Amino acid sequence: MSATSSAPSDGAAKPVHNFLRAIIERELAEGVYGQRQWGGSPGDAAHHAAGAADPAPVRLRFPPEPNGYLHVGHAKSICLNFGLARDFGGVCHLRFDDTNPEKEEQEYVDAIVEMVRWLGWDWTAQVAGQAVEHKYYASNYFDVMYRAAEHLIERGLAYVDEQTPEQMRANRGDFTTPGTDSPFRGRTPAENLARFREMRDGVHADGAMVLRAKIDMAAPNINLRDPAIYRIRRAHHHNTGDRWCIYPMYTFAHPIEDALENITHSICTLEFEDQRPFYDWLLARLGEGGLINTPPPKQHEFGRLNLSYVVTSKRKLKALVDEGIVSGWDDPRMPTLAGMRRRGYPAAAVRKFAEDTGASKTNAWIEYSVLEGCVRAELDGSAARAMAVIHPVRLKLTNWAELFGADHLEPCEAPAHPHHPELGTRRFSLGPEVWVEADDYADVPPKGFFRLFPGNKVRLKYGMVIECTGAEKDADGRVTAVLATVVPDTKSGTPGADAVKVKGVITWVGVHDGQPAELRLFDRLFTEAQPDAGDRDFRDVLNPLSRQIVTGYVEPSVMQAAADVRFQFERHGYFVTDRLDHRAGQPVINRVCGLKDSFGGK
Ligand code: ATP
Ligand code: MG
Repeated sequence: MSATSSAPSDGAAKPVHNFLRAIIERELAEGVYGQRQWGGSPGDAAHHAAGAADPAPVRLRFPPEPNGYLHVGHAKSICLNFGLARDFGGVCHLRFDDTNPEKEEQEYVDAIVEMVRWLGWDWTAQVAGQAVEHKYYASNYFDVMYRAAEHLIERGLAYVDEQTPEQMRANRGDFTTPGTDSPFRGRTPAENLARFREMRDGVHADGAMVLRAKIDMAAPNINLRDPAIYRIRRAHHHNTGDRWCIYPMYTFAHPIEDALENITHSICTLEFEDQRPFYDWLLARLGEGGLINTPPPKQHEFGRLNLSYVVTSKRKLKALVDEGIVSGWDDPRMPTLAGMRRRGYPAAAVRKFAEDTGASKTNAWIEYSVLEGCVRAELDGSAARAMAVIHPVRLKLTNWAELFGADHLEPCEAPAHPHHPELGTRRFSLGPEVWVEADDYADVPPKGFFRLFPGNKVRLKYGMVIECTGAEKDADGRVTAVLATVVPDTKSGTPGADAVKVKGVITWVGVHDGQPAELRLFDRLFTEAQPDAGDRDFRDVLNPLSRQIVTGYVEPSVMQAAADVRFQFERHGYFVTDRLDHRAGQPVINRVCGLKDSFGGK
């Protein structure tokens, strides 16, 4: 029986080995989780005991808190968890870690579902011919969490503490000083149970008391000095409404969520390393008590992904949106998955990036150029080629009428992709006037400039050789049109076309068949590689040129393209028709990235 989640198979490439794979391989060989049963859905020990052998050799989870949009760091975690599940024939759950009622919203839940799917992953598994959706909400486990809390109280392993937050903080001690027992620590289980039920029943004010695990106030690891596990908070919850006025703390809730879902490997980022002893303590106690399936899941930490030139803190991303610095969560400059999608990054490139950057035990800074390199590699093989002029100036071919007749249009063609003849050819035509890049012309050529200047010959790509004769200018001396003459018998693809040698080849778009297009030229949002380093306010290092909107011209093959189609504009880089604003005939096009690295990578 297979329980494999469907997932993209990115070629036959061997997965990059990492320490997590090594752990899973060893545990599978040892059969650590081989005896566990699965009740068909998450649940406590009794629920799973009623099920059959767990069909999934490994269960992982991606557990976002629905309090913001997913970003490139999450992509790393998603690909790691779903990728390990795929590679070991297991499943990966999508779990909304929604135990904190205050900041969570349905909007975020929906956006997370959409973006995990966009990245190519699926939490639906085929079990015995049935599709099972492994999409779960931690808030559905509040009842079991509550029972677990009462269980600890009954065993003398938890107590209600009525110290003020200040007293609690002072009595916690620090790295060099052991903590001091709370005066409420010696209460009997019966007293604690009564008090805890009062907390649940709304008898006490928010913050008046908390439930704490009773472990060791002198533990060297401060996280074991009787951590708070339940607090009073009258807040409306997006899933459970007003049913609860007490909510579990994250450190208590998360291990239980993992256990109820039969997770085998609970992978998280390094900052949770110090929490692992409590994770193990709690699940060992609940396992002994027969509440959860055993053996319990284990937590493994890996290094966070930090990407240069971006911020990935949800709080800071939210500030960028709320303060109108960007146009929304999906602004193409945002490192959110929604932003990267709109920017035109292919999902496969983001997956490749996550895979290539591996999993390690240190928080690494990765150069943005590595991500762009993955995008470029993916697009080079797939994006259709086209010509576009971004900063246009008119070029007049002054002998056109004489050579061909004023109305003549010369048909031209070019491959849609140089390595994919099956993609066919694109057609356009050369006429008496074409758009060229303004900076392809110079009155006096700088050193090494082989493009348009009086007396120089260049080829109009896929067209003819022309000789520049000068320019028309306005009263302020600005060039209003470049002038040139066609060199006869030089049409690309005709015999003898190469008889005239030129050093420069110019891209162009015909004035008669080109289409004006809104081109959104994006660049990095920040001017500093670590925008929020130290105490710096990331707002102080915004790049004023991170978005420039210009009207350029595109060749006919681009005009009729659907939304979200990628092109390589020859000489300029990769572009995508905007998934929201583009219409056939009214192109709105985003720059994905240049043809070469501009981030200083190798
Ligand atoms: P918050 O500050 O809201 O806790 P978070 O980034 O931890 O933000 P979660 O929704 O809790 O957000 O994250 C879901 C999962 O993604 C977690 O397992 C977390 O460890 C992982 N994750 C988040 N950021 C990164 C990152 N930069 N690199 C790798 N994994 C990450
Ligand atoms: Mg978190």
